[in-house]
Amino acid sequence: MLMRDLKKIIRELEEKILAALNKAQTEKEVEQVRLDYLTRQGPVAQLMNRLKTMEAKDKKVFGPLLNDLRQKTSETFEQRLLQVKETERIALQKKKTLFDVTAYKPKTLYGSLHPYSYVIEKIENVFISMGYAIVDSQEIEDEFTNFEALNIPADHPARDMQDTLWLDLPDRLMRTHTSNAQIRHMQQHKPPLAILSSGRCYRYEATDATHDYTFMQTECLMVAENISMANLIAAIKAFLEALFEKKDIKMRVRPSYFPFVEPGIEADMQCIFCTKGCSVCKGTRWIEIGGAGLVHPNVLKACKIDPEKYNGFAFGFGLTRLTMLKYGINDIRVLNSGNLDFLRQF
Ligand SMILES: [Zn+2]
Repeated sequence: MLMRDLKKIIRELEEKILAALNKAQTEKEVEQVRLDYLTRQGPVAQLMNRLKTMEAKDKKVFGPLLNDLRQKTSETFEQRLLQVKETERIALQKKKTLFDVTAYKPKTLYGSLHPYSYVIEKIENVFISMGYAIVDSQEIEDEFTNFEALNIPADHPARDMQDTLWLDLPDRLMRTHTSNAQIRHMQQHKPPLAILSSGRCYRYEATDATHDYTFMQTECLMVAENISMANLIAAIKAFLEALFEKKDIKMRVRPSYFPFVEPGIEADMQCIFCTKGCSVCKGTRWIEIGGAGLVHPNVLKACKIDPEKYNGFAFGFGLTRLTMLKYGINDIRVLNSGNLDFLRQF
């Protein structure tokens, strides 16, 4: 090859590379120019290699020319790369600011209320309309509030009935029932008072289809003068009708024993799922609802309320069991599972 031709080749190659870089609009396209021309095996490097075999006088001419070619093309490559990166960054930012959060996307996953949230809202609405206060209480509790104030002393067999989750802290446990809400409210408020409190409780228990270490309860308490069993039964009825969204639910009460009430009762509801007996009521037409009663004088005394002047009623029902009954849920574990197939049904 004539040396005259080589000058032309160098000039043409430079023009070609600069034109390609100028045309490249994305990082990927700029990178493609590098791969095509500027690698160790590319045309620029090949021309550089030819310097080695040239005579001294040709080296003097072509050395600077080839160095210029290499330097100019690699500098232009670096500049162009920065330019397109910046352009791409600005375009992306613009795209982000133009993002329409209200844009409708078909087949979006819709949220729904968890069954607990739904039934609690139903019940609370009714009790708020009857003048009750909705209160929240703590899940980490002390021994006095969870047991002693509720007339359950240390040696009382009722403490064995509730296998407790104790914390690695002195005098701290996971509440075994929502009844701590009664105590905490009575310690801070003077009668007359009426509260409803729903929340999570904990028992040290193995998990299966009907047991879980955590479950929901709803607690109801009213303290005033001259409270009677009739007031209690009316409140239970209102609770059941709100929960099951049915009017005129028939119920009955049976005498029972709980340390925090005197007298204590157990409430049953006439089966709302059948007329002649079914698997839910086990053919008896009655469904057990839970324990209730008139507040034990010792509980009032523990909260510095005079039992000679005031009395009250209380009930604490297992909201988990009642929610399962309402919806025909046969495995308690799905309620806390976060299983979308289950939750989408509500
Ligand atoms: Zn039935």
